[in-house]
Amino acid sequence: MDFREQEESQERKAFRQIVREWMEYHKPQISSQPSGNGRLPAETQAEVRKFRVALGKQGWIAPTYPKEIGGGGLPPVPASIIQEEIRRLAVPFMGDNDRWIPAMMLWGTNEQRRKYLLPALRGESITWQLFSEPQSGSDLAEVRTTAVETSDGYLINGQKAYITGRFDPDQYWTLAVTSSDRPQKTNLGIFMIDASIPGVSTEPQRLLNWDHGNEQNVFLENVLVPKNSLVGGLYQGWEIAQTILEGERGGFAFRMSDDGTMESIMEFLKEERERNSAS
Ligand SMILES: Cc1cc2nc3c(=O)[nH]c(=O)nc-3n(C[C@H](O)[C@H](O)[C@H](O)COP(=O)(O)OP(=O)(O)OC[C@H]3O[C@@H](n4cnc5c(N)ncnc54)[C@H](O)[C@@H]3O)c2cc1C
Repeated sequence: MDFREQEESQERKAFRQIVREWMEYHKPQISSQPSGNGRLPAETQAEVRKFRVALGKQGWIAPTYPKEIGGGGLPPVPASIIQEEIRRLAVPFMGDNDRWIPAMMLWGTNEQRRKYLLPALRGESITWQLFSEPQSGSDLAEVRTTAVETSDGYLINGQKAYITGRFDPDQYWTLAVTSSDRPQKTNLGIFMIDASIPGVSTEPQRLLNWDHGNEQNVFLENVLVPKNSLVGGLYQGWEIAQTILEGERGGFAFRMSDDGTMESIMEFLKEERERNSAS
C-alpha cells in the first residue's frame, strides 16, 4: 500500500498520472535487470540512454534546476513525484555521475557551462569522477597525477583507482597536481577531460566484496588536454573537490540515523535465511 498516494491532493494525483503515463510509454525495454553492480551491457546502456535523453528533453533529469541549463524549473513537489515515478520503473540507477554539476555551475566559465551542463542535464552525456588513486583515497591531498602546463594545454599523467561508472563515460572530472613546488592542497587543479582523447585507458578493478563490481582503474598517459579543460583556477582544485565531497560524504547540517534501514535489511536477510533453510 502506498500511503503517499492515498494522501495526495487531486492536483498531485493528476500530475502523477501524467508522469506515470509518460514513463510507461518511454520506459526502457530491458528484458532483465543485470545482476550485481557491474558495467551495463552495451544494449542496456543504449536503451537506458534513449530514456535518459527523453527525460532530459522534458527537463526531468534535474527537475528543480533552472531551465536555461537543462533543468525543469519545477518546485519540489512535482520534482519528487517525477523521481518517485522513475524509481517505480526500477531502471538501472542513472544519477551517480552528477556530483560535479553544482561545482561546474559555480566555477565553470560560461563556455564550459554551455559545453558540459546542458548535455549532462539533457541526459546526453555521462561524467566519471577521477579523484582517488591507488595511494590516495581518504588522504586525497596525496594525489600524484600531474598536469603540466605546455604551450598547447596541459599534459596529464597518472593512475586513478576505484572509479565508478555503470555507463560508458563521455568525460572525466579529474583532480591533478598542477605545481611541483607549492604545498599540498594548494597544488591541485581540476580538469574536465574528453573521454575519447588519446592516452586514456581503463580496466575493471576487482574488489573483494563482489565479483561484478563497476569500479575501474583509469590510466592517463601523456594526455594532452586543451587549456579550457581547466575548471576554476590552476591551484583551486582542492577547494573545488572539497565542496563536492562535502555534499557527497560530508557534514550534513541535519541527518537522520540510517539504523532503521540497516535493521530492515538485517530483518529481511534473517527471513530469507529462514525461508531458505525451510525449503
Ligand atoms: C564502491 C566504490 C566506488 C568508488 N567510486 C569512486 C569514484 O567514482 N571516484 C573516485 O574518485 N573514487 C571512488 N572511490 C574511492 C573512494 O573515494 C575511496 O575508497 C575512499 O576515499 C577511501 O579511500 P581508500 O579506499 O584508499 O581507503 P584508505 O584511505 O586507505 O582508508 C582505509 C581505512 O583507513 C582509514 N584511514 C585512512 N586514513 C586515515 C587517517 N589519517 N586516520 C585514521 N584513519 C584513516 C579510513 O577511514 C579507512 O577505514 C570509490 C570507492 C568504492 C569502494
